[in-house]
Amino acid sequence: MIYTDNAATTQLSPTVAQTVAECMNKVYGNPSSLHSMGKEAAKVLFEARQTIARCINCQPREIYFTSGGSESDNQAIRSAAHAGKKNNKLHIISTAIEHHAVLHTLDRLKTEGFEIQLLDVDQRGWVSPRQIADAIRKDTCLVTVMYANNEIGTILPIKEIGEICRKNGVVFHTDAVQAVGHIPVDVQKDNIDLLSLSGHKFHGPKGVGVLFARKGTALENLIDGGAQERGKRAGTENVPALAGMAQALKEACDEMQQVSRQEILLRDRIVRGLSQIPHSCLNGDRENRLPGNISFCFEGIQGESLLLKLDEKGICASSGSACTSGALDPSHVLLAIGRSREIAHGSLRLSLSRYNTMEEAKYIIKTVSQAVDYLRSFSPLWKDKLSGKKPFVL
Ligand SMILES: *Cc1c(COP(=O)(O)O)cnc(C)c1O
Repeated sequence: MIYTDNAATTQLSPTVAQTVAECMNKVYGNPSSLHSMGKEAAKVLFEARQTIARCINCQPREIYFTSGGSESDNQAIRSAAHAGKKNNKLHIISTAIEHHAVLHTLDRLKTEGFEIQLLDVDQRGWVSPRQIADAIRKDTCLVTVMYANNEIGTILPIKEIGEICRKNGVVFHTDAVQAVGHIPVDVQKDNIDLLSLSGHKFHGPKGVGVLFARKGTALENLIDGGAQERGKRAGTENVPALAGMAQALKEACDEMQQVSRQEILLRDRIVRGLSQIPHSCLNGDRENRLPGNISFCFEGIQGESLLLKLDEKGICASSGSACTSGALDPSHVLLAIGRSREIAHGSLRLSLSRYNTMEEAKYIIKTVSQAVDYLRSFSPLWKDKLSGKKPFVL
């Protein structure tokens, strides 16, 4: 199988798998225990914290381990919102293209009386720092903008947005799940107060993530219990998975330049190849996008049918985000960049990793082109367009 669904999740790095297995077998003490086996586990945990802190340029004590990106998003946003509420600040700024872990948390806060302002994006999926500056009010308690979009790969101007938030004294959170380990992220340079990342998006284990919270930023517990994570996230730590996440992030950061160069080569080759398909379009920015992201819409077909056809031919891909697959509604991200519902239904996302090859890229171009042709030949909608009964959109 050719795996091109790395925005949904990634293959575990083989060296990380080894670390996790060894740790599971040997380092089974509870890091909170006072005996030597507990201390050994605590040491592994601290080293993981240190490694991750170095990768995003923060202090180890600003790293809070969580169960993944979704939990980190929830805790970050709820914390900043409820801290704001104490000062009568109920206004939150975000964007229309966030992950559902952010959007659904904001929906929940709306029922608590918060005013949620979702900024529109342009046709590339970009928000300008100017829009943020214009939206900030005296009662704004939080700006949350994703670092890079998981469906269309657009990279947002996080450093500039962070600067504006800092200047205005507004807490700034970024869902950096698609960015960390793939493009340089530095919480100091980027002026970030709260950041979410997830282990399984950079060849680490699933079910572990990090919430970075700058010293002095209010944090509220989602899970009460023991005093783990400086009292902010209870529950015995998943030491093997956390050690694995740290190692995976170190590998990803050490090899970032070389890997992204290779991914960009494959990405641009596939984009060029698929652009040859008539009545198709690339989603997102051509240049300013994640190294591994390819997102297309093809007129006259259903994305789901294309996925099944590609799966038959040995290619694992996605129509958009794994979280919306299965739902019949077209992607909120594609609608936000101005695609019609009809066009948004014909979407394909290929997300690459360091394990993909040029041979695979060539096979993907050939196979997707043939599959689109094949599906169009059965499509009543496509027939209507060919005969002129309905207009072409793309
Ligand atoms: C995958 C993803 C998440 C969710 O992370 P989990 O670790 O799966 O909970 C959140 N935000 C973005 C942008 C993602 O791509």
